[in-house]
Amino acid sequence: MAVVVIDMLNDFVTGKLEVKRTKRIIPNLQRLVEAARENGVPVVYSNDAHYPQDVEVARKWGNHAIKGTEGAEVIPELEPAKEDYVVEKRTYSGFFETGLDSLLRSLHRGEGVKTVVLGGLHTHMCVRHTAADAFFRGYGIIVAEDGVEAFTRKDHEEGLKYLENVYNAKIMTVDEIIKEFGKP
Ligand code: ZN
Repeated sequence: MAVVVIDMLNDFVTGKLEVKRTKRIIPNLQRLVEAARENGVPVVYSNDAHYPQDVEVARKWGNHAIKGTEGAEVIPELEPAKEDYVVEKRTYSGFFETGLDSLLRSLHRGEGVKTVVLGGLHTHMCVRHTAADAFFRGYGIIVAEDGVEAFTRKDHEEGLKYLENVYNAKIMTVDEIIKEFGKP
């Protein structure tokens, strides 16, 4: 198992693409990553680090999470620990043309990760596309329902349903997921 925290970056939480409702997931994700570290579950940050010419920036959302700017940094509340991994991405999916897959396969002394626990932003976009690519590659998927958010409640709830229906994602609370960490 590995926890993948998606796009908990300044621009999405307090900056250019701020969505106030995303703040509720911060304490839940803090609990999740702390428990993961305590239990030896790897924590991977999957972060937008855009060039201005990236398709998603140039054609859709405008400047956000530009590589090297403060907006592209993980929010201070969830700052990666020394033992965590950070994998940059340039579009919605954490897997698309990144090193995420090979990283996951190298973890747990080379045995690889079987299941990814997804948290972060946004339920119906980057979480969804990362889940799609995880599913295509054969990973089991758990989504922290109180650890993901979206622009609206509707986006969030429909996003969760889609993840469950299409990618067979288990939708669990952070507390339920933390209990799984302790199991062999
Ligand atoms: Zn982006």
